[in-house]
Amino acid sequence: MAAETIRHFCALTGVAGHPNAAYLTYLGLYSLQHRGQEAAGIVSADGEHSFIHKALGLVNDVFKPEKLSELHGDIAIGHTRYSTTGSPVLRNTQPIRVDYKGGTLSLAHNGNLTNTPKLRSQMEEDGSIFQTTMDSEIFLHLVARSHKPTLEEKIEEAVAQVDGAYSLLFLSEDTLIALRDPHGIRPLCLGEYEGAHIVASESCAFDIMGGRYVRDIEPGEMVVIRDGHLESRRFAESRQATPCVFEFVYFSRPDSRIFGEKVDKVRRKLGKYLAREHPVDADIVISVPDSSNTATLGYAQESGIRFELGLIRNHYVGRTFIQPGQERRDHDVRVKFNPVEGVLRDRRVIVVDDSIVRGTTSMKLIRMIRDAGAKEVHVRITCPPVAWPCFYGVDIPSRNELIAARMSAGEIGKHIGADTIGFLSLEGMLAAVEREGPMCHACYSGEYPIVPDSEISKESLEL
Ligand code: SF4
Repeated sequence: MAAETIRHFCALTGVAGHPNAAYLTYLGLYSLQHRGQEAAGIVSADGEHSFIHKALGLVNDVFKPEKLSELHGDIAIGHTRYSTTGSPVLRNTQPIRVDYKGGTLSLAHNGNLTNTPKLRSQMEEDGSIFQTTMDSEIFLHLVARSHKPTLEEKIEEAVAQVDGAYSLLFLSEDTLIALRDPHGIRPLCLGEYEGAHIVASESCAFDIMGGRYVRDIEPGEMVVIRDGHLESRRFAESRQATPCVFEFVYFSRPDSRIFGEKVDKVRRKLGKYLAREHPVDADIVISVPDSSNTATLGYAQESGIRFELGLIRNHYVGRTFIQPGQERRDHDVRVKFNPVEGVLRDRRVIVVDDSIVRGTTSMKLIRMIRDAGAKEVHVRITCPPVAWPCFYGVDIPSRNELIAARMSAGEIGKHIGADTIGFLSLEGMLAAVEREGPMCHACYSGEYPIVPDSEISKESLEL
């Protein structure tokens, strides 16, 4: 199930115009830890110099008080990372900071580019030496090569050459620049705290600072914050935006606002619509905590079936996937979840979860629920089957690892040992979001809004 098998991408936070910029950025990163647990970093600046600290590990481990106190200045950007491209080593942590002819420039990126191989090999051909294996570094090379007079124009010229998903934060000695790609695939919003401008991937980062959400940064919009003044520029023609629907299903925190919508509201509706599409006679409905809690409440409310806490999650193990690699996955279910026998014994149980990827975790979880005495186990999933990989910054595996690429819904149910199974339809999922205009749903439908370079996609699409 998704909580074990899909890795998050990255989180961004930035603060401009506050004496505690680095500390506030740290708080923002802390609340966005769910979007990346491999590494964290902050760069701050005081108008003349910039200061950086980054390391592998969780935000709280990376930033001790003495490290934070060295990050001077009233402007800062921060990043937490899970590696969707590049391996998890120190040189692949962000923000990336470079010195170039225009001064010092730092970058934090959430998303994945889809034309990286061509761009990178072209640049290497021209003599560029890359410091990391991350696609994000390409932005800095393109900015450094630009002959445009201002930083914002250099960035505009750079992003015009890349395709894919990118929410970006740039920091010079005195300027914070935030932008979202023209498709607006990854979220990025703007807030305010004590007169300072703040930006973050999700609005829960503003809450922890004590700030407030102002609005989303629009797809194709660049926000330039300098000397307390905010300027909005449009760097790309207005295109049809296609934000990631999976953010609502799983990635974002329910207390966040993304793409202008409250995640909690959408997630409850996902559960509600699922109950309408796939009703079943049962005694109790349980969630796979924590990611499907909110949707399960929606399912229980709509069906009138009692919500119970049938699985307890151990919160102190971290995300099972913090250590990349297959070998650790076998024990992840028992390490993370324990069934409550008194709740499950002799009951007909509906289990609501947010997705099935490989199916292996679901199988173990269902066995565990049955071993605890459940009479029947009915699995309900708050989105359609995930049958395609993501090329926009989410680590959904190749097609040949996705159970839904090889089996029908009914076959998946049998395979994982469920009595019945039901997936929310694509229409139902999109109706729950209630958004005017399209969204990216490529991992369910195979309809990619940005066609990836075949060098990137070829192997992942093979069955
Ligand atoms: S392919 Fe799926 S996970 Fe990736 S951006 Fe689209 S909806 Fe989101």
